[in-house]
Amino acid sequence: MGLLKAPENTPVWVNEDRCKACDLCVSVCPSGTLAMCFDEHRVLGKMVKVINPESCIGCQDCELHCPDFAIAVADRKEFKFAKITEEAKQRAEAIKANGYMAL
Ligand code: SF4
Ligand code: SF4
Repeated sequence: MGLLKAPENTPVWVNEDRCKACDLCVSVCPSGTLAMCFDEHRVLGKMVKVINPESCIGCQDCELHCPDFAIAVADRKEFKFAKITEEAKQRAEAIKANGYMAL
């Protein structure tokens, strides 16, 4: 588990107060679990969201790459993660091709 307290039954979660919307976590997520969404209240006008929690495979790449410790992944002992599917892979590629924005 990461530095943040885990919400119950959640594979991955974001501390929006720490997130600077740099896209890095979305760029490394292999399953299309994460994407940026428009958010007019943020400096960059966007915020990372967990758009497909059921697709998260628990690889921790997002948490390991975040420079601001703003995203955390549940412990494997506490959450049963999905297996990667072809559909999830294709969604991840489509999100990346869409400038990291949700489709
Ligand atoms: S890598 Fe961290 S700071 Fe960057 S968008 Fe993701 S959660 Fe936010
Ligand atoms: S743990 Fe892996 S699959 Fe889940 S959101 Fe992070 S990068 Fe994506």
